[in-house]
Amino acid sequence: MDFPRFKYHPNPISTGAIKKSNEVCECCEQSRGYVYTASFYSQDEVNSICPWCIADGSAAKKFDGTFSDDYPLQESGIPDEVIEEVCERTPGYSSWQQEVWQSHCGMACEFHGDAEKEELSNLSGEPLKIFLRNEMIEPDIWKAILNNYEMGGNPAVYKFKCSECSEILYTMDFT
Ligand SMILES: [Zn+2]
Ligand SMILES: [Zn+2]
Repeated sequence: MDFPRFKYHPNPISTGAIKKSNEVCECCEQSRGYVYTASFYSQDEVNSICPWCIADGSAAKKFDGTFSDDYPLQESGIPDEVIEEVCERTPGYSSWQQEVWQSHCGMACEFHGDAEKEELSNLSGEPLKIFLRNEMIEPDIWKAILNNYEMGGNPAVYKFKCSECSEILYTMDFT
């Protein structure tokens, strides 16, 4: 069976949200070669979900859970059917505190994992200004953060891409 396509999380293996594993999925009760590694919010303790049960919504339904917090998307006025797709049928991501799914152009963005150091170093002008303003970071402090930045480290910088205009958005999180 082909690996499912996730519009809002196009490369879940490279972001680390899905890994190779022979664990049995608690939803379809099969070992399908891959399991989900990031957050799942449910009353039930669920440790193993395969990407197919994410994509078709069966895991969200069976365990009455979500992969991401819908609040930031609700606040941004994203259409309900898109919020459902992101929160119930899309792998989430792991964050130090609370992941905040980004939106742009009135739509949910695609998640592209940890930003690479090189692209952050190349950030300048208006995009840098917007990022620092949103994160409330002074430029000097940003320089120091950048010097020590590592993908998957603390602080983490996540990369999102607008599904409408392709603009790149970064968001930072730390312990
Ligand atoms: Zn499954
Ligand atoms: Zn946009």
